Amino acid sequence: MLLRNCRFIVTQNEKREILENNDILIENGKILEIGTNLSKKDEIIDCSNKIIIPGLVNCHTHAAMNLLRGVSDDKNLQEWLNEDIWPMESKLNGELCYHGTLLAAAEMLLTGTTYFNDMYFHTEYVARAAEKSGMRCFIGKVMFDFFDGEKTGKIIEDSEKEIKKILDLKNERIKPTVTPHSVETCSDELLTQSRDLANKYNLFLHMHLSETEKEVNDCLKTRGKRPLILLNELGLLKNKFIGAHGIHFSEEEINILNKSKPFIVYNPCSNAKLASGICPARELNSICLGTDSVASNNNLNLFEEMKFGVFLQRVKYNDVGAMSTQRIFDSATMEGARALGMEKELGSIEIGKKADLVLIDKNNIFLNPNYNIISNLVYSFNGAVSDVIVNGKFAVRNKEIVNFDLGELIKKVEDFRG
Ligand SMILES: [Zn+2]
Repeated sequence: MLLRNCRFIVTQNEKREILENNDILIENGKILEIGTNLSKKDEIIDCSNKIIIPGLVNCHTHAAMNLLRGVSDDKNLQEWLNEDIWPMESKLNGELCYHGTLLAAAEMLLTGTTYFNDMYFHTEYVARAAEKSGMRCFIGKVMFDFFDGEKTGKIIEDSEKEIKKILDLKNERIKPTVTPHSVETCSDELLTQSRDLANKYNLFLHMHLSETEKEVNDCLKTRGKRPLILLNELGLLKNKFIGAHGIHFSEEEINILNKSKPFIVYNPCSNAKLASGICPARELNSICLGTDSVASNNNLNLFEEMKFGVFLQRVKYNDVGAMSTQRIFDSATMEGARALGMEKELGSIEIGKKADLVLIDKNNIFLNPNYNIISNLVYSFNGAVSDVIVNGKFAVRNKEIVNFDLGELIKKVEDFRG
């Protein structure tokens, strides 16, 4: 495939170059060449009116929860979970999770996201939906034992079975992770066994971390230490580790994070909606971006997340320098890829990297006049991209989902009431 005469290519390479009027030649899912007057006989796409950006990376979500959009909008995290979300989730089966994930995939693709890092139940169905959609996905079966030691072993066993099922798909786009829910719901034993499971398969750990003050206070009360200190002592930070939310940290915890470099996923919309607080992203070296689920957001549009993410940092620190426009765009692209350990293959538009590309109409009303493309993308654009390519194949073409019938899917889920 040849993307001919791309008006702008936002490369996100080391120099953050924005190329004008270049071609991108794609072969076998990879970017073979970038330059002018490249030739190709078969599929040629005219991109003279397109801005090309790397596929966005959503580092924390629960895709199947698209079935729960709008069910609970005015409660804090504990009430929201206990009173509304967990009762409804208990009614979800594998097939419903498949449809919910597919719905989320459509939403992510149509707003330029090509990769998501998911934590949920019925992971085999989530993986199949991701596979069908054409997206890339990391998926882990969420684990909690609520400190009941008799359950721990079985939970780890079940998680290992799901890991094997996902590995058995032998699909390079779909990969397993190990996902203990949080220190609020997992015993030390479950946490250490999760660490060992991740080590055994060389997978990364993905869990909620210091999302609310209550979580920190409960941890101090019952374990005598703060969540990140506990995880550090239990050896979880030695693995590749992704902590979602990361709002309430002490100075000591921030120092540990900046030394050992686990990634924190900044979820500005979800954290604001549930009044959980604001992640100290300014003070952290390694941050990527996530939406959390639509139940706490209420969409999966990373363009909204970028804008809100910058603004929240500036409000938190009362300082316009708290976060730059470029840093938030990095967190949704190359830093997201780095968080997932995929920075050699994804996150920027460079020769040799995988062809995960998003095409945007340059004449879009939100992108003109064009003094600064990154500024327009972060602060003005609504996310309505025109085409999405994952692994060299179209997953969205002319604003339509390619791999499944979205209209039919919406009909299937519109009557879902839990
Ligand atoms: Zn979450």
